[in-house]
Amino acid sequence: MHASYNCSGPKPKPWKRMTTFSDLKLDPKVLKAVHEAGYTAPTPIQAQAIPFALEGRDILGIAQTGTGKTASFTLPLITRLGRGRARARMPRSLVLAPTRELAAQVAENFDTYAKYTRLTKALLIGGVAFGEQDKLIDRGVDVLIATPGRLLDHFERGKLLLTGVEVMVVDEADRMLDMGFIPDIERIFGLTPFTRQTFFYSATMAPEIERITNTFLSNPARVEIARQATASETIAQELIELQATRRDTAAKLKRETLRSLINVEGDKLENAIIFCNRKVDVDIVSKSLIKHKFDAAPIHGDLDQSVRTRTLERFRAGELRLLIASDVAARGLDVPSVSHVFNFDLPSHPEDYVHRIGRTGRAGRSGKAISIMVPSDKKYLDAIEALLQKQLPRAAAPDVQAPVRVRHKDRPAKAEAAAPVDAKEDPAPPPSKPEQAVTPEPAAARNDPPQRRSQQRSNAGRDHAPRERGSNRDGAVIGMGDHVPDFLMREFRSA
Ligand code: AMP
Repeated sequence: MHASYNCSGPKPKPWKRMTTFSDLKLDPKVLKAVHEAGYTAPTPIQAQAIPFALEGRDILGIAQTGTGKTASFTLPLITRLGRGRARARMPRSLVLAPTRELAAQVAENFDTYAKYTRLTKALLIGGVAFGEQDKLIDRGVDVLIATPGRLLDHFERGKLLLTGVEVMVVDEADRMLDMGFIPDIERIFGLTPFTRQTFFYSATMAPEIERITNTFLSNPARVEIARQATASETIAQELIELQATRRDTAAKLKRETLRSLINVEGDKLENAIIFCNRKVDVDIVSKSLIKHKFDAAPIHGDLDQSVRTRTLERFRAGELRLLIASDVAARGLDVPSVSHVFNFDLPSHPEDYVHRIGRTGRAGRSGKAISIMVPSDKKYLDAIEALLQKQLPRAAAPDVQAPVRVRHKDRPAKAEAAAPVDAKEDPAPPPSKPEQAVTPEPAAARNDPPQRRSQQRSNAGRDHAPRERGSNRDGAVIGMGDHVPDFLMREFRSA
């Protein structure tokens, strides 16, 4: 297992290779659960962080998803909380995650690793009624897992006291920064006792993050695992350069190319995540694929929480082959066996490229990441190649005119027939903004009075960007249902 994770800095020393879970002084109940989860050896971040964590040290973990970082804080957390009991409305530990999905994932991890203990947890995320969450908190919880906005909502309603927090975890702090959560995080730190132990995780160390860690962490043990850019040997990367220059034709050509690529991969493609930069394109690409009889579904922040959860469950269970996602929706999602990643758009932040392709080739498995680019993406490609310090291997574009062979999990016989390339398929999208966040409250709310912020929070996850008149944020025309005339969807150009 070690070989599948890359550690920054000098090559692993012999003692590191020999570290086993039993060396780590974890609670035997935790060890039993870890063994049952099928883990044979700790990952580098676990081997490095857990001893410090069990000594009571603060941890500054610089690592991203896929490194085993969740267990690196959850296992010592459970071990530490094994002694002692929770009091009503006073959680003993707090885990903050930037999105609902990530928070839910941490909760799932906790359930796995704490199954032989009697520790209790509550998950506080938006899109779920307050009542049930209140009841759990009232009973007393050992581990409270929350998104910052929902946690503060509970606090402001007087339902929660953070003065009993012994351990506080901040996961994916860089994402928190992107989403405008840092003031909330600072406030939450201030509500917990300064004697708490803090585990703070971030994939990057932006100056703002550095400032927070200097303020709120006490002599932390710094544990750093290299970004996945260096772990990509198991990922075959390809770049398809399309020559389309007009925005409307480019989008159509990209969709046709995507379909051909999926078909060319054939049965090697077990399942794939297809990334788009904008929510509007997540919807368009997904509708287009479904129309061409592919087994596909979208996931992004405007979809109802229950729909997102169901879609993810189906994808994880292997019942859905293609997941079309925005960066924020897919961030940190733990889907262990993705065979392919497609970048329908090259991401505008080069780190997102690394995150995206890191969804495949995980834990030593091989994977393939195929990116589609048009000439206007050149600046993004330059930034990605600068970050990776290498050129992405170019591959020839597949013949998009070829008849498209379709493989659909539920409809093998009928749908295997060639589906025609539909010249009149989905219209070119109007301009829209990249997705900012799946579940955050509006960043604009930062300077508003608490009452207003609270109201805005209650809308979090449903509507966190201002609506434009006559259209929703993804550009669909209101009142037209699904049947919008093409001319209404065309990009407007002023002289
Ligand atoms: P994370 O970085 O926390 O998102 O974890 C990535 C994946 O690695 C998850 O599917 C974990 O279940 C898995 N994992 C965590 N620790 C280990 C381990 N020691 N051995 C094998 N898999 C692990």
